[in-house]
Amino acid sequence: FYSEEKTEDYLFKIVLIGDSAVGKSNLLARFARDEFYPNSKSTIGVEFQTQKIDINGKEIKAQIWDTAGQERFRAVTSAYYRGAVGALVVYDISRRQTFDSIGRWLNELHTHSDMNVVTILVGNKSDLKDAREVSTAEGKALAEAQGLFFMETSALDSSNVVAAFQTVVKEIYHILS
Ligand code: GDP
Ligand code: MG
Repeated sequence: FYSEEKTEDYLFKIVLIGDSAVGKSNLLARFARDEFYPNSKSTIGVEFQTQKIDINGKEIKAQIWDTAGQERFRAVTSAYYRGAVGALVVYDISRRQTFDSIGRWLNELHTHSDMNVVTILVGNKSDLKDAREVSTAEGKALAEAQGLFFMETSALDSSNVVAAFQTVVKEIYHILS
């Protein structure tokens, strides 16, 4: 039989934020194209990339926004955040300074978007074990204090990359349905 079940369209805008060089563009490249750029420059940043995700048999489109390097100048515009329902706030576990910036990024996110934007704190570059400057426990504690999801990822070896994006998309879907 031909199924007449109504197909609903879900399109979720999700933004990537965090200091320069934490791996935002590579997380997106790994997730959307299974690619990695060992020496990426900010120029690889696209405005956004749409990726289909299956949640409970429903096709969901995640429109994931990446900066083109403007975070270096603290010049991420309000247009970037507008309409976002999800956010990945990324630091680099091998650079404490990028973890110290998280509070500022959360403030900026909440200034420019809805308070209820589903947010995951992402400690990227988990492959750099010998260079680690931020412990997993510290990341977890910050996430708990701020009411965020938390995951450590590696765009290099792929660990938790899909899971991090899926966590956000699943939660948004859960809230909206
Ligand atoms: P962005 O400025 O936050 O978009 O960061 P990029 O994605 O451009 O990455 C900055 C640099 O970190 C590049 O040289 C990447 O190859 C590198 N990088 C990104 N993710 C990882 C990772 O998970 N592990 C390692 N070892 N390097 C990474
Ligand atoms: Mg980038």
